[in-house]
Amino acid sequence: MQGVIVELINALGHNKVITGDEVLRRYSRDFWPLLIMREQVLNEELPKPLAVIVPESVNDISLALRVINEGSDVVPVVIYGGGSSVTGASYGAGSIIIDMSKLNRVIDINTYDSLVTVEAGARLRDVETRLNEVGGYSLRHIPQSFNYATIGGLIATMSSGQYSTLYGNIEDMVINLEVVLPNGEITWLRSNNVPRASTGPSLKYLFIGSEGMLGIITKAVLRIVPLPTHTIYGAYRFNTLEQGVEALRELMVKRVVPAVARLYDEQEASIRFGVNKPLLIISFEGYYDDLVQALWRRADDVIRGGHGGEYAGGVSTSRIG
Ligand SMILES: Cc1cc2nc3c(=O)[nH]c(=O)nc-3n(C[C@H](O)[C@H](O)[C@H](O)COP(=O)(O)OP(=O)(O)OC[C@H]3O[C@@H](n4cnc5c(N)ncnc54)[C@H](O)[C@@H]3O)c2cc1C
Repeated sequence: MQGVIVELINALGHNKVITGDEVLRRYSRDFWPLLIMREQVLNEELPKPLAVIVPESVNDISLALRVINEGSDVVPVVIYGGGSSVTGASYGAGSIIIDMSKLNRVIDINTYDSLVTVEAGARLRDVETRLNEVGGYSLRHIPQSFNYATIGGLIATMSSGQYSTLYGNIEDMVINLEVVLPNGEITWLRSNNVPRASTGPSLKYLFIGSEGMLGIITKAVLRIVPLPTHTIYGAYRFNTLEQGVEALRELMVKRVVPAVARLYDEQEASIRFGVNKPLLIISFEGYYDDLVQALWRRADDVIRGGHGGEYAGGVSTSRIG
């Protein structure tokens, strides 16, 4: 097993192949609660990876995979994005870890075609900040792991966010991917970045949700939207959770689509908001005040009139676009 590490060091250099114990320990868990318990409650020393590769370019990744693939040892390779997996997916005991953190550039923001091209190790938070700054754009993908997750990790885990009801999940945003295959070959999965093509099969769907099994996502072209200018938030109490579920069901079936809809059961509503009833937090947003208001009024009819929701407060905000 040491042979492949030596070959990797020869190919990439000492600074890109880390084998020091302290650093390896940092990669010996992700956010999987069982690993956190083993480490922090049972004080276990978790098994470490063999080495961590920190590539600085797609070519480094290609070279590393070629060396590993052509070597005589069978070594698992685990890609490490933000390490925020809650299922142990980025936990790589006994593996070679490829840390994507240095491939973090926002390469192009194309506001005419509403596309952003990014390196896969870029953190969602940083990409979103850049988009907000450059002409008020957004991915509108806000999972709870917003601060940690990387673009590659989000795609590899088919991530969903709080605004996915309106804007879609990550799979709806991916236009094209550059990937490195296990033999080191670098390829884009589509020959152009048009929003939709009818010629298939579309290989990008193999990589979306693949959790690193088929290769490494190195760049992504994603759809972006202008930041919404008008937003209405509101909260409704229900006597039963079922009433809230049915209200949301009717809104979705009749296409009164909220940007955010979170229904808390009595226990969670009590812990988070001090409300002893099931609670719905809902928001509508868009670019025209009258359209947002109309959606809101229709939703209010459905929630209160049809399903017994009791209005518990709200706020409306507008931003100059
Ligand atoms: C507090 C918290 C809240 C969360 N909230 C949400 C949420 O709202 N919605 C949601 O969907 N998830 C959520 N998650 C789960 C997690 O954040 C997501 O799965 C996220 O997409 C992982 O991104 P990452 O960059 O951290 O990936 P990692 O954890 O580093 O990796 C996850 C998997 O993807 C693979 N991978 C990573 N990068 C690449 C790449 N470039 N190419 C190929 N494979 C790759 C890894 O090998 C691993 O199998 C949450 C996690 C935490 C800790």
